[in-house]
Amino acid sequence: MTHLEKRYRVANGERFRWSDIDPQDTLDFADADATRALRKQNADAMLELQDRLYAQHRWSLLLIFQAVDAGGKNSTIREVVSDLNPQGCHVSSFKVPTDEELDHDFLWRYLRRLPERGMIGIFNRSYYEDVLVPRVHPEVLQKQRLPPKLVGKHLWTQRLQDIRATEDYLTRNGVVIRKFFLYISKREQRKRLLARLDEPSKNWKFSPDDVRERAFFADYMRCHQDAIRKTATNQAPWYIVPADHKWFAQLIVASVVTRTLSQLKLEYPKLDRRALETARKALR
Ligand code: ATP
Ligand code: MG
Repeated sequence: MTHLEKRYRVANGERFRWSDIDPQDTLDFADADATRALRKQNADAMLELQDRLYAQHRWSLLLIFQAVDAGGKNSTIREVVSDLNPQGCHVSSFKVPTDEELDHDFLWRYLRRLPERGMIGIFNRSYYEDVLVPRVHPEVLQKQRLPPKLVGKHLWTQRLQDIRATEDYLTRNGVVIRKFFLYISKREQRKRLLARLDEPSKNWKFSPDDVRERAFFADYMRCHQDAIRKTATNQAPWYIVPADHKWFAQLIVASVVTRTLSQLKLEYPKLDRRALETARKALR
């Protein structure tokens, strides 16, 4: 069980390909019920570790979530965050950039949302969108108003290098980064988009864009693969999480978070004994 997460970790991306992972995979778990005990165990451990992370105030944890539309980012984040102390985490969801955001370099809006020491920051979409959407849709790149001289055929490789360097930089400053790609099959996406149409309580989630973007499914997967290949490192690994079964994706993400925190050897700060004694006396 301890190494559940290892199976899906990509720390050296060069040879990564989608066919390495089956989106329907659930290892030996038959259904959500079969994971309950493990989920509970993980949740208890995670809460305790988060308390130490906060008390120690040295490290921060950044969890990045990427997926195609309907990949299950929202529900996975909801489930994992519900096991945590809300005071110690914040979730940032990145949508189509605003005019103000477009007037800055592409990393600007994300770097402002980094977690402080002791905190867990969750990115629902991230700077990886900037090597996906504008790459698939050149008209989106136009909106970024880069000086034409800087837009060459190496733009995407350069951005990926910049992302990789930024992640190295953050790592060296105590931000622990874990990146999740929730991997669903094209068939499962169709099923989920249809459910958004069929079930009244899900109608609000439906956007005609989702159907338009579905036509670009293969392009997105190609760009994502390139991003994973060029940015998967030991210190900021990607996890390619089989996500056709939401309960399985949630189990893997929770396992990765717990394992990551447990590897930090988090300790409660030790207070000066004499100061404690003085305070005790004063209170008495
Ligand atoms: P849901 O899964 O509930 O639909 P969502 O994350 O897709 O949630 P939406 O408001 O539907 O939220 O979509 C956000 C949109 O913003 C996506 O289509 C995404 O591609 C787009 N987006 C995010 N970041 C960028 C970016 N840097 N450049 C261009 N588009 C972006
Ligand atoms: Mg959407």
